[in-house]
Amino acid sequence: MKTDIEIAQEAKMLPIVDVGEKIGIESDYLELYGNYKAKVSPKLWDKVKDNEDGKLILVTSINPTPAGEGKSTVTVGLGQALNRLKKKAAIALREPSLGPCMGIKGGAAGGGYSQVVPMEDINLHFTGDMHAIGSAHNLLSAMIDNHIHQGNELNIDVRRITWKRAIDMNDRALREIVVGLGGKANGFPRQDGFIITVASEIMAILCLATDFKDLKERIGKIIIGYDKDGNPVTAKDLKADGAMTLLLKDAIKPNLVQTLENVPAFIHGGPFANIAHGCNSIIATKYGLKLADYLVTEAGFGADLGAEKFFDIKCRYGGLKPSAAVVVATIRALKMHGGLKKDELTAENLDALRKGIGNLLKQIENVHKYGIPVVVAINRFKYDTESEIEYVKKSCKDLDVDVSVADVWEKGGEGGIELAKQVINACEKESKFKPLYELNMPIKDKIKTIAKEIYGADGVGYTKEALKDLKNIEDLGLDNLPVCVAKTQYSLSDNPKLLGRPEGFDITVKGLNISAGAGFIVVMTGDIMTMPGLPKSPAAERMDIDEEGKITGLF
Ligand code: ADP
Repeated sequence: MKTDIEIAQEAKMLPIVDVGEKIGIESDYLELYGNYKAKVSPKLWDKVKDNEDGKLILVTSINPTPAGEGKSTVTVGLGQALNRLKKKAAIALREPSLGPCMGIKGGAAGGGYSQVVPMEDINLHFTGDMHAIGSAHNLLSAMIDNHIHQGNELNIDVRRITWKRAIDMNDRALREIVVGLGGKANGFPRQDGFIITVASEIMAILCLATDFKDLKERIGKIIIGYDKDGNPVTAKDLKADGAMTLLLKDAIKPNLVQTLENVPAFIHGGPFANIAHGCNSIIATKYGLKLADYLVTEAGFGADLGAEKFFDIKCRYGGLKPSAAVVVATIRALKMHGGLKKDELTAENLDALRKGIGNLLKQIENVHKYGIPVVVAINRFKYDTESEIEYVKKSCKDLDVDVSVADVWEKGGEGGIELAKQVINACEKESKFKPLYELNMPIKDKIKTIAKEIYGADGVGYTKEALKDLKNIEDLGLDNLPVCVAKTQYSLSDNPKLLGRPEGFDITVKGLNISAGAGFIVVMTGDIMTMPGLPKSPAAERMDIDEEGKITGLF
């Protein structure tokens, strides 16, 4: 089969105004970035806000493995299949970050015949949102150091500044740095560091804000560190909130593009799924729901992290009511959960599948805890055998869950018709959606509920450091926020080596960070990397552009 980029380059795209028209967006409400990309004007909201909401469908998955799951591919494929069934469908995805694109991942626009296009643009700079978020973030950094240089009226403790700088690249050399070297004119030297832009609290804020006012209020609440008396210092204290919001004036508008089969696709915002909540913006999701009858969206990592945060953070803040969830699994990944290595996946192995299936069954149970119907999509890879597929199907049916093979990577929407029909049926059932925990519960109880109910842990332990952080959060009166667990994506536990459906383990909380602007408490259960590095042979080495402007190496 052709490579993703070859398929994307052959796409017959429609002008973006025609794509918008399919879901009733008149061209006046689109701000064009060339012929195939547009931002949705905020003026459209007044026109559509009283429309009835369409059905919201979340695509989530088993715990990821190096064998790949294909959530984005299935999200796009399902949108295309619904469209083939003559439903007014749209999808909503996250914006890719340059760092992972140049590193291992090589882009994030779906795959095969289920991609969003123009794929090169989406993966490279797109409409500049990432740049705007980085600028707003670094403006705050500059204003912190300038404030200290100009006399430090707020009495900021330079040893307790938690706000780092941000750049949209994987660059391990920037993890720990010293700024302000070079003498008096250059400010005060202090230890600092960089995070990748998608890990910025501004990214999480942009994705959770419901409008400009909310955006500015949330930005104002960002805690950048503490003063010498231990009081928090905020972006508002530094009078940075207005200009930071201003820098996001266009980034807050959702981007509209299309799939290979011309289905409207909102691509907007892309926060990390560990230290943040890992879903596209609430604003884009709300537009999608007002404009389409079916909006398919995805959340990062597996259902233990992605779906949990989608339901408990995003849906709660956005007042969203999901109708159904699709849990994506691949036979390959389930066999890895059953103990096989990546180079052992091509031969049939029902034993390994039997050992690994627990991961899928647990993630189905997890979604059911939110009161939502589940459909399982087996994302077919070419080595999958009929007996392996039958085994997974039977295991799901034993739980009374609909399941189908999604061939959307190879066949586009046509390969997802059965899945789409099952999803339509699921949406007809009553959604009894409710978040897992109440906000007024103590933080420890919220963490315990997630650990026991979703991860299957026996209990939760805390380091001394974490208990100190907890006390600080309680003293600041921030204990009524939702929690956002930063945990390995590979396991239901906090140990990446415990695959399948582990039992008899505890979770250890090593620290708690406050994202007061985004509006959640980050629960650190391990060393979470907020500035990734490039691998030995980065994808960037294989990327190129020729004299005619033809791009190769993106995937
Ligand atoms: P996720 O959203 O889970 O990270 P993606 O949908 O981005 O995964 O897919 C990751 C990669 O796997 C893409 O390069 C895609 O082309 C490839 N892929 C997905 N599904 C299949 C499949 N069924 N067969 C072969 N390759 C696939």
